[in-house]
Amino acid sequence: MQSLKKLDLKGKRVLTRVDFNVPLDGTKVADDSRIKAVMPTMNYITEHNGKLVLMSHLGRPKGKVVESMSLKPVAEYLSEMIGKKVKFIPSCISEDAEKATKEMKNGDIILLENTRFFPEEEKNDMEFAKKLAKLGDIYIDDAFGSAHRAHASVEAITHLFDVKAPGFLMENEVNYLSKLIENPEKPFVAILGGAKVSTKMDIIVNLLPKVDNILIGGGMVFTFFKALGYKIGTSIVEEDKIPVVKELLEKGKGKIVLPVDIIAADKFENNAQRRITTANFIPEGFMGLDIGPKTTENFNTILMQAKTIFWNGPTGVFELDNFSSSTRAIAKQLAMQTHHGVTAIIGGGDTVAAVNKFGLADSMTHISTGGGASLEFLSGLKLPGVEALR
Ligand code: AMP
Repeated sequence: MQSLKKLDLKGKRVLTRVDFNVPLDGTKVADDSRIKAVMPTMNYITEHNGKLVLMSHLGRPKGKVVESMSLKPVAEYLSEMIGKKVKFIPSCISEDAEKATKEMKNGDIILLENTRFFPEEEKNDMEFAKKLAKLGDIYIDDAFGSAHRAHASVEAITHLFDVKAPGFLMENEVNYLSKLIENPEKPFVAILGGAKVSTKMDIIVNLLPKVDNILIGGGMVFTFFKALGYKIGTSIVEEDKIPVVKELLEKGKGKIVLPVDIIAADKFENNAQRRITTANFIPEGFMGLDIGPKTTENFNTILMQAKTIFWNGPTGVFELDNFSSSTRAIAKQLAMQTHHGVTAIIGGGDTVAAVNKFGLADSMTHISTGGGASLEFLSGLKLPGVEALR
């Protein structure tokens, strides 16, 4: 890959794909993490006298103009954040857009409207990409969160530029995640949780040969329990995945670590009646909402030995305070270990939300901004957005 730091940006229109797919509260940006994550790239381009042309998607407008998914509020937010006018262009492919990019001065910033307002974006359409490509002399991709999608502003467009490179966020993500699967410092332990096993199956298969242990928590644990013939009460389960989970348990013998106790509740509510049960017997009418204290201790003892840790998926329903203790304890454990030089990488929207909730995000080595993209990367799949930059 070419490197942004080696490019001559002066006076050039630097067409930069970012991931400004931020949550909006009406017309207000509700969480600016994704904007902050690309600030280093944006600052670098403007400080080196480039003309920064930003493009992004927001939400799933399905190829139509949907006012509530406009990037206009993001342009306003960004202007305020950096104290400098960010010009908003109401269509990403238009004569106006072309004219505006030609009138830019060095250091100016433009944000184009949602690329997904055109159906051609998700179709990876080359004609659409050609129109976008008219807006830049250099192409930079800093949208790691979109790298697993072969969309026109991520994939097709790269074939139209000789000068193209990843932004700093993209570069960081690829470096950290590559190291994780190619050359992790051992012992390497993965913690996987979250609601569903179906979304984590491939990653378990791909990580098994590379890790020393995989600790399993969250709602997905009950499909493992069911496969083992345990009583799981009314816990969440994916019956159709039981055969594959049986195979995983066989393949992962000695590496996969399951909970020994569970915090069960009579309903999915914070003030539900709670019971600590053994893993193999959750009473009828109760559902497992968190892993138990013994399990948390077991997990932390294993983590204590690790030099590299990857965590995707909360180990309990952390959104409900009474069922957040294991997720909180693991986050604290990781924060403590990173302080002592251990590499802890967090992926997935909910896990990131959890460490944010506990105020521990800054203590982690790396927080992956791309949930789906990081999962696919670690599952061994090639990401179109990354491959296209090579
Ligand atoms: P995922 O998107 O698959 O990573 O799932 C994340 C969600 O899993 C979070 O919102 C958690 O509340 C939820 N979760 C964690 N543990 C459980 C559980 N035992 N039962 C149901 N949902 C859970």
